[in-house]
Amino acid sequence: MKYLDEFSDPDLARSLLRQIHAATTRPWALMEVCGGQTHSIIRHGIDQLLPDGVEMIHGPGCPVCVTPLSVIDKALAIAARPGVIFCSFGDMLRVPGSGRDLFEVRGAGADVRVVYSPLDALGIARDNPDREVVFFGIGFETTAPANALTVHQARRLGIRNFSLLVSHVLVPPAISAIMESPRCRVQGFLAAGHVCSVMGTSEYPSLSRKYGVPIVVTGFEPLDVLEGIRQAIVQLEQGRHETLNAYPRAVPETGNPVAREMLADVFEVTDRAWRGIGTIPGSGWRLTDRYRDFDAEHRFDVTGVHAAESALCRSGEVLQGLIKPHECAAFGRVCTPRQPLGATMVSSEGACAAYYTYRRVTG
Ligand code: SF4
Repeated sequence: MKYLDEFSDPDLARSLLRQIHAATTRPWALMEVCGGQTHSIIRHGIDQLLPDGVEMIHGPGCPVCVTPLSVIDKALAIAARPGVIFCSFGDMLRVPGSGRDLFEVRGAGADVRVVYSPLDALGIARDNPDREVVFFGIGFETTAPANALTVHQARRLGIRNFSLLVSHVLVPPAISAIMESPRCRVQGFLAAGHVCSVMGTSEYPSLSRKYGVPIVVTGFEPLDVLEGIRQAIVQLEQGRHETLNAYPRAVPETGNPVAREMLADVFEVTDRAWRGIGTIPGSGWRLTDRYRDFDAEHRFDVTGVHAAESALCRSGEVLQGLIKPHECAAFGRVCTPRQPLGATMVSSEGACAAYYTYRRVTG
């Protein structure tokens, strides 16, 4: 398949690995920010092919995983209301809240529907004017433009029975939070290419300078990941810390100006809680005042939801790169993809799911 197969070429992968080995003289710890990159690394065994001492630390870039428990519980509370049609991407349905998940709420009679686009949810709202339709709008800068467009369309078309439960998070403040953690071991980052395809690369050079870390904008296929690692290690070995773009086929320096304009109209920056990590200042988006009527939290009274994490789950440490998934005592025993305790085992981009699916390690 064009643009995929040529980025999995084994001869080119071996060549990049030889270059990485030739460039490396000492141990380095790199963090891949995005869960898609984590899955590529674990699925293809890239971490096991790197020079001794070069460690890939898995970052918090799985949107499902970092959606705070309190927001999941609010989703469950809204979905259970009579008259509500609750729409979501499929990977949110099995994410455990404090007591149950959206599948269980649906099993108890709620109208919970899987959609493939927020615009599908808007269509459901248009076709069901006597029902309240809520779309679960989570994710990084990547998914936000489609949600912004949908709310913009709802307002333009006067579809008032549609609202968005918003939990968008932003990558650059998360990089700052990781670097400012006293337990931080990260010396360089692979930034998430799809985020930069929307937002561009301009937010990253100041982070490289401030924290003295190379940041390489990186794609998701094996050769993309290897090239990102190569560029990060070459910089570290040379004592450089710049932001470089190793994914130019998808990431222009300015990102997608049209999408950014839509985002600026619909969303504004807010503090946001990250599941397992805590509140990071200025790390999320919420709807601006112009669109407040379309905010599900504003429309439905969901205050008084008290979230309680599983005492066994160490996903917060996994998301901060402090432990590997199989170092959690519950991994593969009481926590599996069929019976997950934490979101990192549920999500298709979660690190625990990646280790369970590809690494065949047991806890
Ligand atoms: S293995 Fe399960 S319980 Fe342990 S950190 Fe991962 S999601 Fe949480």
